[in-house]
Amino acid sequence: MDSIVETVFQHAERGPEQPAIFFEGQTISYGQLASQVQSFAQALLVQGLREGDRVALFLENCPDFVVAYLGAHLAGGIVVLVNTQYRQVELSHIMSDAGVRFCVTGPAGQAELSRLDLPDLETLIIVDEEAHEGTQGARVSLSLSDFLDAGDERGGTRELTMPSPDAPAVIGYTSGTTGRAKGALMLQRNLLANIASLTEAWHWTSEDHLLLVLPLFHTHGLMVGMHGTLYTGARVTLRRKFDASSVLASLRDDPSMSLFFGVPTMYSRLLAEAERQGGPVPHPRLFVSGSAPLSPHLFNDFTRIFGQFILERYGMTETGMNLSVPYDGERRAGTVGLPFPGQEARIVDTHTRQALPAGEIGEIEVHGPHVFKGYWNRPDATAEAFTEDGWFKTGDLGWRSEDGYFTITGRARELIISGGYNIYPREVEDVLATHPGVAEVAVVGLPDSDLGEQVVAVIVSRPNQPCDANDIIAHCRQRLASYKKPRRVIFVEALPRNALGKVQKHLLVARLDEHEQRGR
Ligand code: ATP
Ligand code: MG
Repeated sequence: MDSIVETVFQHAERGPEQPAIFFEGQTISYGQLASQVQSFAQALLVQGLREGDRVALFLENCPDFVVAYLGAHLAGGIVVLVNTQYRQVELSHIMSDAGVRFCVTGPAGQAELSRLDLPDLETLIIVDEEAHEGTQGARVSLSLSDFLDAGDERGGTRELTMPSPDAPAVIGYTSGTTGRAKGALMLQRNLLANIASLTEAWHWTSEDHLLLVLPLFHTHGLMVGMHGTLYTGARVTLRRKFDASSVLASLRDDPSMSLFFGVPTMYSRLLAEAERQGGPVPHPRLFVSGSAPLSPHLFNDFTRIFGQFILERYGMTETGMNLSVPYDGERRAGTVGLPFPGQEARIVDTHTRQALPAGEIGEIEVHGPHVFKGYWNRPDATAEAFTEDGWFKTGDLGWRSEDGYFTITGRARELIISGGYNIYPREVEDVLATHPGVAEVAVVGLPDSDLGEQVVAVIVSRPNQPCDANDIIAHCRQRLASYKKPRRVIFVEALPRNALGKVQKHLLVARLDEHEQRGR
């Protein structure tokens, strides 16, 4: 098999009636999926798609997302994934940066796009029967059904060939947690290498049934959740979005659901909801967490209530998934385990780039067939991202235990240097998370004329459990070396988070700075 779309056609041939996707009362079998993908690909060719043209998906989770994604691959296009929360500034950056010619979206996306000047964009395909059709400027807007009908009428004889392993497949934009999102170009073989090793590691088979609530526009939802399902010929129940009580109900009511993947904020909400509801908790075969650090506190609390360890994994847009706690091995709180089969990871000194021994903190570098080709339109950033011997510099810091388990300590650019000491915000955050009055926390470094930077804890407190700054600092003083304890504690209503629930520390620091300037 050379591509994900080819595996779907193979499953369709072997078991056309086998269900692939359940969505809001609808069931789509592998046979139906393959035939819809074929029609979509035909229609793209009829509309004039040329090999390598960029097809953006600016769409909420729905089966048409999957059809358009695979259809674009079958037609020879490159899929551009666009975060549905993006508005004018981010949207015009991505659409122009990738030179998008075709875009599949919903009515809200159409309205958003119509405000922008996007000369490359020629065809909008609107996934909604009521779609407003017509031509604005040089742009054609078609409802999905009209788009497919035109493909049927005029394109029945177009030859479709499966993508080659070296075909560029996806431009995934990084989450923009640390700045402007960069487009990471993945080839078909990167996607396959990734999902082959991940499904092997997690014992994922056609018997599995995944409950997928993560957005498909992100690596976690698409390249873990959807690819894993389609690669193994399994089933997925797809949801538009996460809702703690309906996730608990679905997992409880349908014992065939064996897998659930989430980000740490989802687990903390599931836990709160399970405690609120009381009664029995569901037991799927596997709960996986990733995309952001899972605090040992949450890991332990979840284990206590659900009687099951969350398996933590680590990865990123550029490299797919890299590390995971072994399915059969020990699940240790706070660690992300070992490299997936066929992949390598190492810890190096950030200055000398020499490999470091076990126990020492340095930058994580990864290597293997899953690593992306490069950043779209950014040869400078691509050259910068790789070492001379071809390893990808993740920009994340961590260390390795004697028996090979990796622990992530945070992003290199978020390291705080205060009074000459290195302080890893993650370590302080994990300690603060154990304080009963703390609901959410982010630790950042702010400029300090004496220390260079000072440690600042920004906290969202738990309703009905008030705490004050002295309390928080005393909590840290008992548990951490004095230089790591926050010098200041700031209480806020909410932390700035992106669509994946990650705290955007650069925005937080900018807000605090602005606040400070105004206060002066
Ligand atoms: P940008 O690169 O635009 O700043 P981003 O790095 O958040 O955004 P993604 O590719 O979505 O974009 O996220 C990958 C990053 O998420 C990793 O580099 C790492 O910092 C973080 N991450 C992923 N999984 C984990 C984990 N299990 N523990 C800690 N951090 C994680
Ligand atoms: Mg990144």
